This record gives sequence, structure tokens and C-alpha cells, in this order.
Amino acid sequence: MRHHTPKPSPPRRNKLPAALTAWLNHTIYPHLTHVQIFGQLPGYTDRDGDFYADCPVCHRPGVFYGFKGRHVGQCKSCMRIIGWFGFVRFRYDGDEDRAIASLAELAGVTIGPDGQPLGLETLGDGDILGLFTLPLSLDDPPP
Ligand SMILES: [Zn+2]
Repeated sequence: MRHHTPKPSPPRRNKLPAALTAWLNHTIYPHLTHVQIFGQLPGYTDRDGDFYADCPVCHRPGVFYGFKGRHVGQCKSCMRIIGWFGFVRFRYDGDEDRAIASLAELAGVTIGPDGQPLGLETLGDGDILGLFTLPLSLDDPPP
């Protein structure tokens, strides 16, 4: 699952662009559950839609958790909060286009002829895929 290519170091931004956040929240996330995103983490355990697992950042067992209906996991040891999008991008070594395509496929959203998921291309100016980064990167040290 992990690749041995160098991880990119994108500039940090405080927030995802509103258009991308809206697309994730309204088009993608309603079709997904925690197990589709975090299910491969060591120690992943489902508890009626909530989950806990080993933390992907500090690797302490059983401290990373999330609640049903939310789209983030958080660690009660190193305090990192990791959104679904951020985690998927991490799994693709920072490749944002692949993260978007993967989430779209998981959610059953069709990829358009231009290679972008339907719905997203109408939200930006056509350059949105190159603009956003995560509020938190897994490569960064804990605060
Ligand atoms: Zn942690």
C-alpha cells in the first residue's frame, strides 16, 4: 500500500477552498463511512458506526477514533485531527488528483470526460485541482 516515492511538501493552508469543501460535504461524504477510509488502519474496530484504531501519526494503539456521521478521525494521544480527504491524499503520497478520483469512485460519483468528477468542475474556475492543500498534513510534526 505504501509507495517509496518521495512525499511532496505542499505549502500549508489553513482551510480547503470553499468549493472543494462543499463538493466533499454535499456530493461525496454522504455516501461514505469511516470503514471505507480508515478501515485499513491497524487495530481498526467498528462500534456501531463509530470506530477506533491505531493512530496513523503516532502509531499508539487504539487512540485514533471517529464518530458516526463525522468525516474526521482524531487522536487522543498526539491530538491530530485527520479528515477523510487528508487521509486519502496521504495514502496516495500527496497526489490530490488521485485522492479526489478515489473518493469519487468510493462515493459512486461519475468521472467526467475531462477527468474530473462530475459536480466538482462546476464549482471552481477549472484550476481548483491544483490549488488546495490540507489543513493538516500527516508529514508535519504534531503541534
Ligand atoms: Zn496519534
